[in-house]
Amino acid sequence: MLQTKIKQTLRDVADFPKPGIVFKDITPVLKDAALCAEITEALALQLKDVKIDVVAGIESRGFLFGLALAQALKVPFVPIRKAGKLPYKTIQQAYELEYGSAILEVHEDAFTAGQNVLIHDDLLATGGTVVAASKLVNQLQANVAAYSFLISLDFLNGKQKLADFSKHTFSLVSY
Ligand code: 5GP
Repeated sequence: MLQTKIKQTLRDVADFPKPGIVFKDITPVLKDAALCAEITEALALQLKDVKIDVVAGIESRGFLFGLALAQALKVPFVPIRKAGKLPYKTIQQAYELEYGSAILEVHEDAFTAGQNVLIHDDLLATGGTVVAASKLVNQLQANVAAYSFLISLDFLNGKQKLADFSKHTFSLVSY
């Protein structure tokens, strides 16, 4: 079963990036070409009943399956990046981290008003990152159609925060 295979392939790295955190490392998954193809297909299948005009992937691991998913859905891909990385005119959204804050940016012409945007990232933890991404989508008068993750850490309750933006949140594996 795909879920079991993904869980068996992910690598838990203790004390990364800080002591006490167990990081879900997706790089062993990326080394398995057949598994990556199955993942892309499964992510696309979860979205079959949702109207999606564009996929937005979040830097940097959200780019990996984000672009593959956009190709599978035959829609455009937009990168949402950390501050200072995008070359053209941007809009910004600040968000809180455990210690301090960060800024996400997207090009000001990334979405058009009324577009249905799927936000994709590798992992949902507290939801702070994708909430900031959702505000960028809304700043450009586009809608958050759904969220898609490879992994969700349900014990952190991130999904509740996303309900304000979209009723559809999908993940392939959860803990
Ligand atoms: P959140 O904002 O939901 O608390 O954190 C999610 C963001 O942090 C995502 O962009 C994700 O890539 C990253 N992240 C946090 N913990 C992990 C982890 O254990 N594994 C991976 N691969 N990414 C993580």
